[in-house]
Amino acid sequence: MTRFIFITGGVVSSLGKGLASAALGALLQARGFRVRLRKLDPYLNVDPGTMSPYQHGEVYVTDDGAETDLDLGHYERFTGVPSRQSDNVTTGRIYSTVIAKERRGDYLGATVQVIPHVTDAIKEFVRSDVTDEDFVLCEIGGTVGDIESLPFLEAIRQLGNELGRDRAMFVHLTLLPYIPTAGELKTKPTQHSVKELLSVGIQPDMLLCRSDRPIPEGERRKIALFCNVQQEAVIPAIDVDTIYHVPISYHQEGMDAQVCKHFGLPHMPAPDLSRWHGIVERIRHPEGEVTIAVVGKYTSLLDSYKSLAEALHHGGIANNVKVRLKWIDAQIFESEDAVHHLEDVHGILVPGGFGERGASGKIAAVRFARERGVPYFGICFGMQMAVIEVARSLAGLPRASSTEFGPCEEPVVGLMTEWMRGNDLERRQAGGDMGGTMRLGAYDCRLRPGSRVAQIYGVNHISERHRHRYEVNINYLERLESTGLAFSGMSPDGLLPEIVEIPDHPWFVGVQFHPELKSKPFDPHPLFTSFIGAAVAQSRLV
Ligand code: GLN
Repeated sequence: MTRFIFITGGVVSSLGKGLASAALGALLQARGFRVRLRKLDPYLNVDPGTMSPYQHGEVYVTDDGAETDLDLGHYERFTGVPSRQSDNVTTGRIYSTVIAKERRGDYLGATVQVIPHVTDAIKEFVRSDVTDEDFVLCEIGGTVGDIESLPFLEAIRQLGNELGRDRAMFVHLTLLPYIPTAGELKTKPTQHSVKELLSVGIQPDMLLCRSDRPIPEGERRKIALFCNVQQEAVIPAIDVDTIYHVPISYHQEGMDAQVCKHFGLPHMPAPDLSRWHGIVERIRHPEGEVTIAVVGKYTSLLDSYKSLAEALHHGGIANNVKVRLKWIDAQIFESEDAVHHLEDVHGILVPGGFGERGASGKIAAVRFARERGVPYFGICFGMQMAVIEVARSLAGLPRASSTEFGPCEEPVVGLMTEWMRGNDLERRQAGGDMGGTMRLGAYDCRLRPGSRVAQIYGVNHISERHRHRYEVNINYLERLESTGLAFSGMSPDGLLPEIVEIPDHPWFVGVQFHPELKSKPFDPHPLFTSFIGAAVAQSRLV
């Protein structure tokens, strides 16, 4: 029997609802339950794929090629359960489905309305693609009170009623602000937020209260009384030093026990949290520190690089070191010499990116890393910039560039219009739709036996997630290989370069895919483990 937990947020945005949901998922999993997490996003875009990283942060890509909300990254990192297309839906996608049905005549002449047609579509989504999961945790994006989220709240209210209390639970995340002049944590915003929820017919079963300090028993009692929630179901969510401590801290506050109690499962054995304790222990007691420069474009909104930052920290956990990230806006190298900013770092990473702005700065960072023997990791756009740098500096192609920046004489990186997905041919046209048309999701890649990456992965055949429209042009392959750049990973048909490396360099690897999306704290991605290992070696030199 699958049970559903709906997680809403109130008072203010950015309270970490995604992390809270992920942590609860991890706790239930640690009790031996099978979990799945999904997110309902109230905005009108069909998916976040067309949104600017400044607006929305990272776009998290699933194996099945969906461009989704970054919270799915938290879900996957905390539970290890691979997310799917069916784990994220937006108002835009719901409406597209409803309108397509209306055009087909499926509503048999009915007037199509938000209730029941849109809410039915939402309910159908929530219950779809569920098989043997014990729990489906469903996070509602936005903050209670937003106009956009109303159909979602109505849909989960109906679901709560249909499923009954033993199969549905409502968890509401709020904030208790501390007012220094009064010396008190304030419960009023929480009370108001619960009132707002009640006005749409939802009585929360549990309140998860964010606070920067312990919540006195009296305040907990007051919240319970005013919000009509049992006192033990008012769970403090106190700020912690690392996100990987969140499951432990929720457990200590009794969250999972309360969830089990709600569903009539009171005698479950305590969860096994040893792997979380192990991770936190390693994070808190590193044996050293390395500094990695991330030379990117969206450095003013670090949510744009959420999975990347986490994967680098996982590499640190694997090597028992703290990873300090130095975020550098690539454009700075257009006016200043890269040396000043990169001299003291132990590794340089150029992440995924789009468009010409900052590209020359990224190329300057590649050159610095290559010439100085500093470990270099290029991801997607960062691989493309590495290839352009090598083409310009070593292959005698000073005009090498990417057609992403406009027509060019030496298109070392070019628009991809045809490729194979398994046995199927995928086709695109220049000027076609932008949404959902990149090379997306998991693709296989063959590694050259004996190469650095084959050693790192320990296998010769891998699968990684992609999100790109351009690719390294294989017409330049021989010329580039003659400079010492090895194409050590290729698509199975041998047509798409997936990995380049410089064997003579301490650590220089560019990958066309996004390995950061699959890294987990308890299962760090081998490329990040190896890169941070190389940075540790570098730190002993400088
Ligand atoms: N802009 C490049 C492309 O579309 C790289 C994309 C990325 O880094 N994700 O191919």
